[in-house]
Amino acid sequence: AKAEGRRTHRFFEPAMGANARARLMMEQDLRQAMNDGGFEIHYQPLLGLASGEVTGCEALLRWRHAERGMVSPAEFIPVAEDTGLIGELGEWVLRTACKEAATWPDHVRLAVNVSPIQFKNLSLALKVASALAASGLKPDRLELEITEAVLIGDDEIALAILHQLRAIGVRIALDDFGTGYSSLSYLKRFPFDKIKIDRSFVSDIAVDGSSTIVQAVVNIAASRNMTTTAEGVETEQQRDLLRSLGCTEMQGYLFSAPKPPTELKPLLVGSDRV
Ligand code: C2E
Ligand code: CA
Ligand code: CA
Ligand code: CA
Repeated sequence: AKAEGRRTHRFFEPAMGANARARLMMEQDLRQAMNDGGFEIHYQPLLGLASGEVTGCEALLRWRHAERGMVSPAEFIPVAEDTGLIGELGEWVLRTACKEAATWPDHVRLAVNVSPIQFKNLSLALKVASALAASGLKPDRLELEITEAVLIGDDEIALAILHQLRAIGVRIALDDFGTGYSSLSYLKRFPFDKIKIDRSFVSDIAVDGSSTIVQAVVNIAASRNMTTTAEGVETEQQRDLLRSLGCTEMQGYLFSAPKPPTELKPLLVGSDRV
């Protein structure tokens, strides 16, 4: 009875801020969406800048809300992280996206975003191996995108998990590069396969000193055997500059926004190029 009373108290606490109440409601909505199939995954192509061809697709989670329509992951991922729901949600994304990617041409990789919270759970590598086995997707076709938050504070568990994932044969990309602080030091801590250059550098690339920064990142990556992907490429001018700087891949509205699987398919088998 005591536990029950405490729970009631938690839900109807009048002093609870509007923000906290909104989060609590969202948590309940998220749980329900998980049970009702309220999530879907859209996929955005990545293109090789030398070939102009699709080399992979990034899985981007979507939440179809009954009243609010499509809710942005930027809004609900933080809530899923705070409430621990991200474990289950992340596993669903992984399993669903691997099954989808197994139907794509062999040379097209799948990129999946993994939350730093998922790197606190020692079973992550097992879950990844299980998703690969269930889908039949080859490990080297899966690329996990992580942010430098995973490596903050020399987290031994996170590093151990990263090495387990590497042993399975999946690729690891450092996402949102340039948005944190001591970014370069993270490159020494773990041998990433790829660096994703944040959209903020790409959108400014033609107007200010951003191209110098991008050039430096491309050079460092190349010297360490890593490839580079520029995010948020929207114009031909940006694409041309990135190509001349030696960036490996691009991703952005210039070629395609994230699309549901049925709309994505024609882009993978067609001869569309950038
Ligand atoms: P992100 O990983 O940096 O993903 C790139 C974001 O940029 C996506 O936003 C994408 O739709 C958007 N974008 C792509 N091209 C362009 C462009 O040319 N211009 C502009 N303005 N935007 C572009 P989205 O889909 O809203 O996702 C937001 C963030 O939510 C992602 O950022 C990622 O951090 C997170 N996220 C999405 N799906 C998942 C997931 O399954 N798990 C986890 N843990 N996080 C996810
Ligand atoms: Ca990403
Ligand atoms: Ca990113
Ligand atoms: Ca980003």
